[in-house]
Amino acid sequence: MIEARGLTKRYGDRIAVDDVSFTVQPGTVTGFLGPNGAGKSTTMRMIVGLTRPTAGSVTVAGQRYAELRSPLTTVGALLDAKAVHTGRTAYHHLLSLAASHGIPKQRVHEVIEQTGLDAVAGKRVKGFSLGMGQRLGIAAALIGDPQILIFDEPVNGLDPEGVRWVRTFARFLASQGRTVFLSSHLMSEVALTADHVIVIGRGRILADAPVAELVAGA
Ligand code: ADP
Ligand code: ADP
Repeated sequence: MIEARGLTKRYGDRIAVDDVSFTVQPGTVTGFLGPNGAGKSTTMRMIVGLTRPTAGSVTVAGQRYAELRSPLTTVGALLDAKAVHTGRTAYHHLLSLAASHGIPKQRVHEVIEQTGLDAVAGKRVKGFSLGMGQRLGIAAALIGDPQILIFDEPVNGLDPEGVRWVRTFARFLASQGRTVFLSSHLMSEVALTADHVIVIGRGRILADAPVAELVAGA
């Protein structure tokens, strides 16, 4: 579960996230819908402790990110389609991530298989397509086997097959009882992937409802 209460981020005079409160429930894919600049990334960065709130708080599994004893086993994030750019292979990238968090090597093999990276795991990440890069980002988010997953615009720029894969995989993760919080600027994408939707515009929550309700009202 993810819980935001009065979450606020200001950058000087600009308010990026404005007194936002919401709950993301386990076993669901919850879409975070809003146009560019609405405050989605800032909110997601605050969830994983990369940006400090100006006011309010956000917790994952009842704790603030900074208080988690073992962050990667609690929450995994794919942020901002910021592709991994390294001369190392995907396998070594994941292995060093696992090693630095005391996660067994076996888990690297598991996430490679789960995300369909087998064929490219031994290749250098630099040469990866966007789609394979996204899978690697998702594999990294899964390395600690966390119950909570945060994906910022995971289908941006992907080809149709990549889009379908992300959709299906997000649904699969939720079916395992995990909490999946996924942002998009496209209602159509959220409608196809999510059970629940939280709509944000100019830093404020505009709607928080089951997808079926929002689609029916559209
Ligand atoms: P989204 O992810 O919905 O596109 P963002 O969270 O990236 O929106 O941005 C929300 C607003 O906050 C935008 O106006 C953006 O320019 C601003 N913003 C985001 N990060 C920073 C920052 N580090 N410094 C200043 N302004 C920022
Ligand atoms: P903080 O830790 O203060 O929340 P961030 O990590 O979000 O800061 O961003 C660090 C710096 O990057 C900001 O102070 C800003 O100068 C710059 N920056 C990042 N994104 C944006 C943006 N969308 N608009 C303007 N400046 C940005």
